[in-house]
Formats: sequence, structure tokens, C-alpha cells
Amino acid sequence: MAEANNIPGSASSPAATAPYPYEAPVSQGLFDRAGRVTPGGVNSPVRAFRAVGGTPRFMVSGTGPYLTDADGREYVDLVCSWGPMILGHSHPEVIAAVQEAVARGTSFGTPGEGEVALAEEIVARVEPVEQVRLVSSGTEATMSAIRLARGFTGRAKVIKFAGCYHGHVDALLAAAGSGVATFALPDTPGVTGAQAGDTIVLPYNDLDAVHAAFAAHPGEIACVITEASPGNMGVVPPLPGFNAGLKAACAENGALYISDEVMTGFRTSKAGWYGVDGVRPDLMTFGKVMGGGFPAAAFGGRADVMAHLAPAGPVYQAGTLSGNPVATAAGLAQLRLLDDAAYEKLDAVSREIRGLVTDALTKEGVAHRLQNASNMFSVFFTDGDVRTYEDAKAQEAFRFNAFFHSMLAQGVYLPPSAFEAWFVSTAHDERAIERIAAALPAAARAAAEATA
Ligand code: PLP
Repeated sequence: MAEANNIPGSASSPAATAPYPYEAPVSQGLFDRAGRVTPGGVNSPVRAFRAVGGTPRFMVSGTGPYLTDADGREYVDLVCSWGPMILGHSHPEVIAAVQEAVARGTSFGTPGEGEVALAEEIVARVEPVEQVRLVSSGTEATMSAIRLARGFTGRAKVIKFAGCYHGHVDALLAAAGSGVATFALPDTPGVTGAQAGDTIVLPYNDLDAVHAAFAAHPGEIACVITEASPGNMGVVPPLPGFNAGLKAACAENGALYISDEVMTGFRTSKAGWYGVDGVRPDLMTFGKVMGGGFPAAAFGGRADVMAHLAPAGPVYQAGTLSGNPVATAAGLAQLRLLDDAAYEKLDAVSREIRGLVTDALTKEGVAHRLQNASNMFSVFFTDGDVRTYEDAKAQEAFRFNAFFHSMLAQGVYLPPSAFEAWFVSTAHDERAIERIAAALPAAARAAAEATA
């Protein structure tokens, strides 16, 4: 196991079951410094390790499936920057494309061929996307898609689902997953009643609730937004027919069906979750993978809807760095490498790791559900199926925390929250998988022995 790691706390060491089995003094020093100049010491809340405790690792480099932290320890990375690094870190062809783009200048504030090529690649891969607008983050993509849906329909209300996270858009933070789930925030101060008042939050996977909401608000609902297959309350795939039912309910009621594929897009298949369930959205949002590790995201869909966007139409949307030449070069290089063979590899790696995780937990008698959406997956420490946010929250998250710290001590970097998806890359090879396999028995034992 972890032969190159020099990490105290091996699979057989009792230290691996302690809450924080080893120190990370350089990371801790950086975290202390960061805390003086940045709220909570991080630029995105889940990075602070508050749910799992301990010192967040400050990473200094990444190669293939590995990350190296500021203390010089190497980890097998199962976060992959929360999804984008689907080819692993520092893929030579992506780095070459970035270097070539950077050498020509970093931002022009004008149109450029790279953004046309990236838009063409997205349109070619995802059939319902006839036109696409590039932005810089998934939050911007969902915020803009909602505005466009409201502008197109002339209606105000939006249906979203509890446990689905669509970025930190004011109107969409109600009962959101991801960091909001991690910190159990019911809502966030700073979002006014007016901003959230037009948001209707429904239980996930509940079509009856959707029909009831449409019946209660005739002619008022602009759109339904859903994660194509949720990954922000852990991985909770739609039940068969759920997305198709949403689409049908929208069509019957003159509302738009917005599929948020920021996480699943170009990850769960060549055409994202659309490539899996074939339900045709009116609008879609993308991010993560399409940026190749740079800030790039997009929203797109029906040409007649997109025609309402400025300057073609009246719905305003803009961005100084939208379609940035370096980001588009990275995204395009990454997408062009994601062929059928790449998705087969991702599926195989994911299947193997899922099998190892469930075997280890079963061996220790730990109740769990391992759920996946193609190659995305997560573990719930519960003995029931997880179909809603309520189900997800009912898990024994304290077992995850013990499991997480044992894996970290043994050189495997998991998402620092029980409510996040795990991500693999095409770079996860047998050596990386062996290191995960070697770490799992002690981590499963730590989960079994954990107390609330
Ligand atoms: N939508 C989904 C489904 C996401 O998973 C995320 C981020 O995790 C977002 C939107 C927001 O994207 P960003 O963090 O780039 O703003």
C-alpha cells in the first residue's frame, strides 16, 4: 500500500482509526495565514474540512490521479477538482493547448475562434443544444438560464428540488445540496424573501408534488430546474421516468425544463446525462469538465429560446471573461480527448472502486448504500435506499468522517463531506486503484467503530 507516501498510519496501524491520524504542519500554517485574510481560510466553504474536522490540505501539484500537498504527501485523488479533472491532473495535451493559448495572450474582450470551436463541440455532442452561450462558472450558467426562462415565458416562479445544488444563485439556494447540505444551512442570510419567494422547493423524485405545484400555480411557473442526475446530496439518480415526467409536466403547462448538467455534463457520457436518459431539455447548463480545469461554463438549448438572449433578443446577459481564450483552449482540448474509449475507461475504473468500497464496508458489517450515476458515485452510511434529500440526511455521517480521515491518513483524498460525489479520471490506473484497495480495510474498520 501507499509505498511512495511516507504517510504514518498504514492500513495495519491503530493510528489510522484516530480522528486525525497525522499532522500536516505546512498546510496548517498556510490555513492559519489564510484565515487572517480570507473568511474561514478558504475560497469555497467545503474546502475548509468543517464537516469532517482537521486541517484542510493545501495542494501544490497534481499529476495523473495524484495530488501532492504542501507537506510533501501524495494522495490518490477521488475529488478531481470536484469533477473537472476527468483526464487526471496535468494531462500533457491539455497543458500544451493551454501553453499555446497563453503564449498568444490571455484575454482580448473580443470574439475569438476558440470560443466558436468550443460551442461547436458542445452543440455537436449534446443534440438538444442548438445554441450555447459561454460563461465563467456554473453559478452564472444556472442564474442566466433561469433569467432567460423567465424572460421567455413572462412568468416568475421556478420549481427546484430539495438537495439539488445549482450554484449560489440567490433564488436557488433554498434547500440546496453541496456546501449547503454539508453545513445543514436551511437557507442563507442575505437572500431576501423577494429573491426566494418565487422559488418552489419540492422533494426530489416526487412527480406528484410537481403536478400539484403546477395545479396550484396555473400560468405562473417559468421553469423546472433539476440536476440531470443529482450529485450534490451524494449521488441520487432520478427514478425511472422522473426526468421524462418533468419534461412532460413542463410541456403541458407552458414551462421550460432546465436540466443542470454542470456536474454530469461530458462526465456521465459523451453527451452527459442526456446521453444516458435521452430526455430532451429546453435549456441545459454545463461547467466543470468543459473548462478543462479553467473557469468556463455554458448554458444552451432550443434556438427559439436562446434567440431571446442579448444581443439577439432582450434578455440581458454578459461577461468580461466569457469565452476566455485560455479557458476555451483547455476545455476544447479536454473534450476532444473524451472519446468512447475514455468513457469506457471511466466506467471500468468507477465500477472497480465501487466494488472495493462496498466489499470493505460489508466485511466490517457497516450499513451502507453505494449509489452511482454512470461513473459518478458516493457512499451513504445508511441501510435504506436514498431517493430524496431527507433520505440522504438520515445517514450516519459520523461514520463517513471516520472513514474519510482514515483514507486521508493512508493517502487517498476523498471529498471532505458525506454529501458530495466522488470523481474518477481516465488516469486512475491499477497502481492508484491498488492504493485505494490497500487503504479501505482500515477505513471500513474506522467507520464501523465510529460513534456519533
Ligand atoms: N450546478 C451543479 C449541478 C453543480 O454541481 C455546481 C457546482 O458544484 C454548480 C451548478 C455551480 O457551479 P460553480 O461552482 O462553477 O459555480
